[in-house]
Amino acid sequence: MSGRPGTVWFVGAGPGDPDLITVKGRRLLEQAGAILFAGSLVDQAATQHAPAGCAIRDSKDMTLEAMNAWLIDACARHRTVVRLQTGDPGLYGALVEMTRPLGAAGIPWRVVPGVSSAMAAAAAAGETLTLPELTQTVILTRVAGRTPMPAGEELEALAAHRTTLCIFLSITLLHEVQRALRAAGWPEEAPIVVVHKASWSGAEKIVRGTLADIKRRCQDEKIASQAMILASPALGARLWPDIARSKLYDPGFGHRFRKAAAAVEATAPTGNPT
Ligand code: SAH
Repeated sequence: MSGRPGTVWFVGAGPGDPDLITVKGRRLLEQAGAILFAGSLVDQAATQHAPAGCAIRDSKDMTLEAMNAWLIDACARHRTVVRLQTGDPGLYGALVEMTRPLGAAGIPWRVVPGVSSAMAAAAAAGETLTLPELTQTVILTRVAGRTPMPAGEELEALAAHRTTLCIFLSITLLHEVQRALRAAGWPEEAPIVVVHKASWSGAEKIVRGTLADIKRRCQDEKIASQAMILASPALGARLWPDIARSKLYDPGFGHRFRKAAAAVEATAPTGNPT
């Protein structure tokens, strides 16, 4: 290829199940001249859809500098270069560190979103992340590991909102999650769900517990990596006898696509037997 450099597409591969990549992401893989993928999490998608002759490289042993050099070099030779990342590239994906050098080198780049493991974990467990009148806010966060948390974003402070928390990168710090939720006033019986390898066929594990016992339950299941911690007042709602109805489907609540039942009745001709 001569002239203009190719484009680097940052593609979200989804949480693990190769079928959970977007159609757009898959089409890009099918056209790719080179694919740099992020470790064992996404290798299946890369190898399944890449065309014959595509240069495919696992980035797990590479530094950021080496990855950037690889992508820049690939763009000199191929029109479509894919950087395949787990879940959604905009969440804990070092996106800015990778796009800035490309911009500086005059290489065009685009992002294709992916199904995040937060959504995949909720789906695997059959849980909703929002429930009317209980929680209408979802916080995607982590606890401090080697990466410190910015001031005001400590889990204890975020948990004080009592909304849904999707906690990434923290399964080895469950004791810290427990401490923070307790400090924020969550009761011992508050439900917590941990999903290991959400959407991975044959490997997915769902551990349901409470603030008091979730750590022990995860230890019993030997879960120490690739896990999403969900803490939410809405967990388990599918089993409750009574919940506040979502207004969207409430017969008494009209919107753009449907008249409220009362309004329909009011316009019905008199003498209608119903
Ligand atoms: N960009 C990714 C997150 C990358 S950070 C996304 O949107 O999902 C890596 C963390 O994501 C892991 O520590 C774990 O908390 C979570 N994770 C990634 N894949 C997962 C999966 N299949 N099941 C559960 N958690 C997962």
